[in-house]
Amino acid sequence: MTDKYNRVFNFSAGPAVLPVEVLEEARDDMLNYKNSGMSVMEMSHRSKTYDEIIKTAQKDLRELMNIPDNYKVLFLQGGAHLQFSMVPINLLKNGVADYIVTGQWAKKAYQEAQKYGKINKVATSEDKNFSYIPDCSDLDISPDADYVYICENNTIYGTKFHTLPNTKGKILVSDMSSCFLSEPVDVTKYGLIFAGVQKNVGPAGVQIVIIREDLLRDDLPSWCPTMLNYKIHADNDSLYNTPPAYGIYICSLVFKWLKKQGGLKKMKELNEKKAKILYDFLDSSKLFKGTVEKSSRSLMNVPFITGNDEMDKKFVEEAKNEGLVQLKGHRTVGGMRASIYNAMPIEGVVKLVEFMKKFESENI
Ligand SMILES: *Cc1c(COP(=O)(O)O)cnc(C)c1O
Repeated sequence: MTDKYNRVFNFSAGPAVLPVEVLEEARDDMLNYKNSGMSVMEMSHRSKTYDEIIKTAQKDLRELMNIPDNYKVLFLQGGAHLQFSMVPINLLKNGVADYIVTGQWAKKAYQEAQKYGKINKVATSEDKNFSYIPDCSDLDISPDADYVYICENNTIYGTKFHTLPNTKGKILVSDMSSCFLSEPVDVTKYGLIFAGVQKNVGPAGVQIVIIREDLLRDDLPSWCPTMLNYKIHADNDSLYNTPPAYGIYICSLVFKWLKKQGGLKKMKELNEKKAKILYDFLDSSKLFKGTVEKSSRSLMNVPFITGNDEMDKKFVEEAKNEGLVQLKGHRTVGGMRASIYNAMPIEGVVKLVEFMKKFESENI
């Protein structure tokens, strides 16, 4: 157990661990948020108090990511899955887009987009069960592609694009759900970034979209539902309808927490340090091994196996008894997966590796 609350080390891929300090602040503000006489959950999203919360959230996120003024920040709903539809609906003009399929989420996005246009798979790593990121330096990009799509960190498989694809001048769209705010990014390299916050930022129910202004359109097809039009949300500062108000509030606390930690550069250093502890052990272990090509490794999601299903099961069970939970791998990969997002303290990773060493010595 990790702290005075008897909390476990939670390696869940999502919804996932949040910083204790953030939960404590939310607890303290639960019944009476800053003398408003009510909780944030009970508050009108049109109130002055809430307006301050959502504006500050946006301001802090812009500061953390260094988002240029010509990008809009939207707080939406519908999960990353709705972005699989919104992206093609809003961005297809020529009706052509190129997708790089590096895992199940990219594949789902690719399949969904096919409802709206001619969607090309320009690269994939499915031949080796998505265990690597393909070389994307010289792809056969369609001359009339409206955008090129990637899933930047593949939550299930534990791979990450360490070099962005060469889109040959086309707009880059990135699903950053599981690496959002884990390190600095150059927003100007993207036309659109989206992230479900339940991986590395906040509670499920909030979707953050960062979109370059010139991609907002007045000429969407008339069948496009109003709620799926980015411009509607941009023009209304994410308050066209009732936003996921409490979830955005928790995100705002996480943004403040990240600023206090020293920002994204600092987070990257910490995340590299945490991941190295685990990968170094995996590389030296006689029992466990990582499942991903080294050059494609994610800092956030670390899958590993023993090669024996029974042994994997035993490990997950015994780890759980030690307060190391949610280590079972995704059902499509098997084995184990440790998700070590921003809020996972380094002590959690150290304890996991110590336990793995002990388990290894007992089972080899
Ligand atoms: C979890 C995840 C999704 C799916 O998110 P939902 O909010 O459940 O729709 C999509 N993409 C990535 C990269 C994810 O990690």
